[in-house]
Amino acid sequence: MKIIMLGAPGAGKGTQAKQIADKYSIPHISTGDIFRANIKNGTELGKKAKQFMDQGLLVPDELTCDLVMDRIQQDDCVNGFVLDGFPRTIPQAEALTAALDNINQKMDFAVDVDVPDENIVNRMGGRRACLSCGATYHIVSIPTKVEGICDRCGSEVVLREDDKPETVQKRLSVYHEQTQPLIDYYNNQGILKSVDGTQAMDKVFADIIAILEK
Ligand code: ADP
Ligand code: AMP
Repeated sequence: MKIIMLGAPGAGKGTQAKQIADKYSIPHISTGDIFRANIKNGTELGKKAKQFMDQGLLVPDELTCDLVMDRIQQDDCVNGFVLDGFPRTIPQAEALTAALDNINQKMDFAVDVDVPDENIVNRMGGRRACLSCGATYHIVSIPTKVEGICDRCGSEVVLREDDKPETVQKRLSVYHEQTQPLIDYYNNQGILKSVDGTQAMDKVFADIIAILEK
């Protein structure tokens, strides 16, 4: 099963993608996580990506597309994958369609996790991320068991640099301008499904599973 998670930054794509990946034993591929790992490890890609990410801008397509095309051709992707945070532009979506066409494949579902902007600001302000293992929490709705400490790996959880209020507005306007058009793109491909992302995490997940297993 090959799934794309669509939705605004902070809509809950990563939260849902992790659960989908666990349920179907397929890899969760988050371009944001890949960039953050590169930043942490001080790679050239990380240095380049950070300049854009810290400003709430998208990393250029030429730094993003090849990375994903390589990743989805690895052995662990034979039974499918969940893409989280990719594609984010029409050229990225076209590159993905073309790469899959070449191997006679196509995406099965593009799931739009729909959350209005007013909820997003709260979601991102309250998000706490573990930069070691990638787990994500929310200080009110999905808190860690011990304040400030990742349940999964025991590292510190932090407010991401790009979740600071001044960057959140920028990321939302970038989303509306560059990423939202993908909803029409995948609707035209006949694979768009939408879920109400304002519901509790478990209800959103149940709605997604109902779509995938229909
Ligand atoms: P995205 O990957 O779309 O940027 P995340 O999955 O990181 O979003 O979720 C953003 C924030 O909202 C996180 O703090 C997460 O814990 C929280 N969150 C995710 N889903 C829900 C939900 N259904 N209800 C309340 N909070 C949620
Ligand atoms: P995320 O973890 O998905 O919220 O992504 C964090 C940041 O990484 C984004 O705000 C972008 O700067 C960058 N990024 C992640 N995925 C992409 C992508 N597909 N295209 C461009 N930039 C991306």
